[in-house]
Amino acid sequence: MTHLQTQPRSMMQSTYKPLTGQKAIVTGANSGIGRGVAVALARAGAEVVVNWRDGEDRTRETLEEITAEGGRAIAIRADVSREEDVQRLFQETCARFGTVDILVNNAGLQRDAKFEDLTLEQWNTVIGVNLTGQFLCAREAIREFKRRGVVQSVSRAAGKIIHMSSVHEVIPWAGHVNYAASKGGVMMLMKSLAQEVAPARIRVNSISPGAIRTPINTAAWGTPEAYESLMRLVPYKRIGEPDDIARAAVWLASDDSDYVTGTSLYVDGGMTLYPEFASGG
Ligand code: NAD
Repeated sequence: MTHLQTQPRSMMQSTYKPLTGQKAIVTGANSGIGRGVAVALARAGAEVVVNWRDGEDRTRETLEEITAEGGRAIAIRADVSREEDVQRLFQETCARFGTVDILVNNAGLQRDAKFEDLTLEQWNTVIGVNLTGQFLCAREAIREFKRRGVVQSVSRAAGKIIHMSSVHEVIPWAGHVNYAASKGGVMMLMKSLAQEVAPARIRVNSISPGAIRTPINTAAWGTPEAYESLMRLVPYKRIGEPDDIARAAVWLASDDSDYVTGTSLYVDGGMTLYPEFASGG
């Protein structure tokens, strides 16, 4: 299966739809944060491409969740680390939806190891998806945004890219060097690209989540002991939910943030506030 399509069934819940008429691609959108973002963008009025690589059942569930609220979504299978897959993802999106206005570069993974045990394959896999994958998708998006230009009736910008980074773009992470390096790379990819394309009225920003309850980090919240330990790192004293990220993504994708570009929005319950210094230092 490379394609899944569903039809609208009912009126959407939210009445504020700042993304009406816009077409969005969300990569890795059948799980966790990507799924929450895809649902929220559709709720805000966008037509959404749910990109997925594996997990056909989860993809179908995501489409059903969107269409149950009256949203419109299609699924396109593509591995974001493969250039030909990414080019086909954008070609199919443009063939089905006409263009793309919003890219959420969300797909990501971890392959953890102590540094001396880290294999080249683990390094290349994480850099290939988390950093090269974001480059490949952003490049196709920029090409389409520049080809089309601004359509005032749709958005004040010619296009918006949201990179899913992490607090680990700035917080070092022992045992996860490949992951932290990939997110540090995403930060400068985002900023340099934002600088380059701003004159074309293209906005490029990142969301940097802290600890969000998704399958990628079950070990960090799956038991009461793990959760208690995690809370020592979170001043706000709760784990984040995908919807915390999704609402930030809607704002960054909409004209409500029209003067915002080159920014990393930390959605982390204060994780980047050096919590140990609250009672020390
Ligand atoms: P998740 O494992 O639930 O979702 C990751 C998604 O990416 C899945 O749908 C997976 O199939 C997809 N994916 C992986 N490789 C892919 C590829 N090559 N091509 C296409 N899709 C691919 O994890 P999540 O927590 O929802 O993570 C989403 C993003 O958020 C990642 O970039 C992650 O680094 C980032 N993030 C997550 C947290 C957190 O606490 N959960 C914190 C900071 C950053």
